[in-house]
Amino acid sequence: TDPGRIRNFCIIAHIDHGKSTLADRMLQITGVVDPRQMRAQYLDRMDIERERGITIKSQAVRMPWTVREGDRKGETAVLNMIDTPGHVDFTYEVSRSLAACEGAILLVDAAQGIEAQTLANLYLAMENDLRIIPVLNKIDLPAAQPEKYGEELAKLIGCDPADVLRVSGKTGVGVDHLLDVVVRELAPPIGDADAPARAMIFDSVYDVYRGVVTYVRVIDGRIEARDKIKMMSTGAVHELLEIGVVSPEMEKAQALGVGEVGYLITGVKDVRQSRVGDTVTRSLRPAKEALGGYKDPKPMVYSGLYPIDGSDYPALRDALDKLQLNDAALTYEPETSAALGFGFRVGYLGLLHLEIIGERLEREFGLDLISTAPNVVYQVMTEDAELRTVTNPSEFPAGKVAEIHEPVVRATVLVPNEFVGAVMELCQSRRGIMLGMEYLSTERVELRYTLPLAEIIFDFFDQLKSKTKGYASLDYEPSGEQTADLVKVDILLHGEPVDAFSAIVHKDKAYAYGTSIAAKLQKLIPRQQFEVPIQAAIGSRIIARETIRAIRKDVLAKCYGGDISRKRKLLEKQKEGKKRMKMVGRVEVPQEAFIAALSTS
Ligand code: GDP
Ligand code: MG
Repeated sequence: TDPGRIRNFCIIAHIDHGKSTLADRMLQITGVVDPRQMRAQYLDRMDIERERGITIKSQAVRMPWTVREGDRKGETAVLNMIDTPGHVDFTYEVSRSLAACEGAILLVDAAQGIEAQTLANLYLAMENDLRIIPVLNKIDLPAAQPEKYGEELAKLIGCDPADVLRVSGKTGVGVDHLLDVVVRELAPPIGDADAPARAMIFDSVYDVYRGVVTYVRVIDGRIEARDKIKMMSTGAVHELLEIGVVSPEMEKAQALGVGEVGYLITGVKDVRQSRVGDTVTRSLRPAKEALGGYKDPKPMVYSGLYPIDGSDYPALRDALDKLQLNDAALTYEPETSAALGFGFRVGYLGLLHLEIIGERLEREFGLDLISTAPNVVYQVMTEDAELRTVTNPSEFPAGKVAEIHEPVVRATVLVPNEFVGAVMELCQSRRGIMLGMEYLSTERVELRYTLPLAEIIFDFFDQLKSKTKGYASLDYEPSGEQTADLVKVDILLHGEPVDAFSAIVHKDKAYAYGTSIAAKLQKLIPRQQFEVPIQAAIGSRIIARETIRAIRKDVLAKCYGGDISRKRKLLEKQKEGKKRMKMVGRVEVPQEAFIAALSTS
């Protein structure tokens, strides 16, 4: 295809503002999906299939378009719509998708206005020098306020309110005009057709039948069906089995040239060999320099993952291996806990990533798991000037520490002005430092804070929602590190530390953490034959204590002289109970106690 006819764009929006629905209408209006096959959230349907491991999610769709109105009426174009994952955990991947486009449709719900992710996505698009097309969606809604929010949007991006388009992804109103504007306003891709090939990987998906399917956008040169390709980050060379475009099913092609978006299949079985952000070149005439910005996704949050039934350990390892084929950001290594047995220390991009992985392990692999409290990554300088990376409370140095660094984020909260006080209070209680505050309109405010990542990952979002009646929206991005006054709190059961409950917390919160865990355990652990103290300690200093009193009478006492079958039943019942008990020193702790005490509520 002549690059001059190509337009590469993405749709960016806050969640639920109608991205998928608008994409549906585009597929329909451009005719790439047969009307009889059309169904709601056509591209999301693939997500479900992908979850079951049978299809490939369609991240980029190629659509032909003939301009319908205006001075360029009749001009034909090839549109590539590149989908972006929506959540902050996956910002890195979003930014790679954006880098594969020349423009972005910034979609805003005409009944809601700008939200936190609208801003976050807009800033990402601007960082990638994309041309922004502002669009109000859902104008069919009776509650739509296109005048008001049109002005808000125009003010935000600095354009004339008259240039804000109005569409309904539901009814299709305005969508053909929007596609005309895409052709008119966006620049065609520019690249050097004669240079050595360079293509950027913006998505990479494992498919059980075909192996890894890699989605690329060609920047320079040309990749042909019979080429051998080379990954520039590792130098690995792979034979190409197939190349093609997605429209919206996979269609084989002979070659991909400048500006084109398509897929490559090499038979590689592991997405880690074909990572998002890497540059693909040809092995025969390789490019010298990779495209900018390749870096490994770094885990931000770690937690321990243990099978409830110890015999599931090999199954858990296999399941993690399989998930990793499709998720280059997932990391794990074996870990043992005195309390929980054999398991893994798993690194995630964020809490959503953690939840998704946990859910998939349970749903797709039928595993019952305990996850220990998540923690962020700390850099700890010991007194003898040794710098340690701590991803697990057990790695926290026992002796004195000179300095601890924790990761911080820059957070943006959008909220109606009546809730500003509540948000400020919450952020302050989480050690937040205010960076700024701005009125987006007379009643909506943008608050910017620096917050420790550790404070955000525990129920911050839930708290924010409940303190603002659901009106606040939140976005955040990593913003370096700061020194912090952190301590490790251990929980001792009958004098024995229980590793699964150790946590690294801020000094001011150590007491609260210690008392809350001790109080929970006091309720959850049944009485034993002897008195069991539960203590929270920082080093050798005890900061909280609860006591489980001893059982007074022997359970069997009441059976003496009584009916023998009742006695047997009781013993059997006890034995059954024991199976789900873990011994911590001399104390029997029911499995449920670990689960309940580790649950965040
Ligand atoms: P996404 O999260 O941005 O992909 O949003 P979806 O496309 O899934 O839409 C979220 C919700 O808004 C769904 O219930 C859609 O049916 C609804 N929706 C999307 N576009 C429109 C629209 O133009 N008009 C109306 N009335 N509802 C819409
Ligand atoms: Mg969607």
